[in-house]
Amino acid sequence: MPLKLAIVGRPNVGKSTLFNRLAGKKIALVDDQPGVTRDRKEAEGNLASMPLILIDTAGYESVHDDSLESRMRAQTEAAIAEAELCLFLVDARTGITPDDETFAQLLRKSGLPIVLAANKAEGRQGEAGVMDAWSLGFGEPVGLSAEHGEGFAELFSAIRQAL
Ligand code: GDP
Ligand code: MG
Repeated sequence: MPLKLAIVGRPNVGKSTLFNRLAGKKIALVDDQPGVTRDRKEAEGNLASMPLILIDTAGYESVHDDSLESRMRAQTEAAIAEAELCLFLVDARTGITPDDETFAQLLRKSGLPIVLAANKAEGRQGEAGVMDAWSLGFGEPVGLSAEHGEGFAELFSAIRQAL
């Protein structure tokens, strides 16, 4: 049975980039413009030898109605309801933001195993941001670069440990 894994986090942290890499092909739309309408996507994928059902979540659908927070919340709650494990993604380059804290609260309440990863951690600039993510209270953050394919062995073992 593949593990059902939801990739959650605020817009622009690299969720869709990671989704595409784990799926082995480009399915999700990667976009650095937040606010674009994007559907929740599912795909089969693999992390090392581990078969996965991946759930990508859009950050939010529209900037015109409802608040950003309620949009993110609804999307994330739908994903959490289906997932066996949540991969909580933050951005190592921007550091932890209030939106990250909102997600952290939501995920804590879910009771699901959570693996925290700080993406965009390639190069020296990313290292401090990975350390920053300790403050979210999910233990040791995995330093990841979805774009450059770094940190996937560490991600694999963190997921194995969380299950
Ligand atoms: P999402 O909104 O969380 O789904 O984020 P996207 O996957 O659409 O990515 C948002 C932006 O971050 C895009 O410009 C990506 O190219 C960029 N990005 C994603 N992963 C990485 C990474 O590992 N390193 C860097 N430097 N940029 C990344
Ligand atoms: Mg996306």
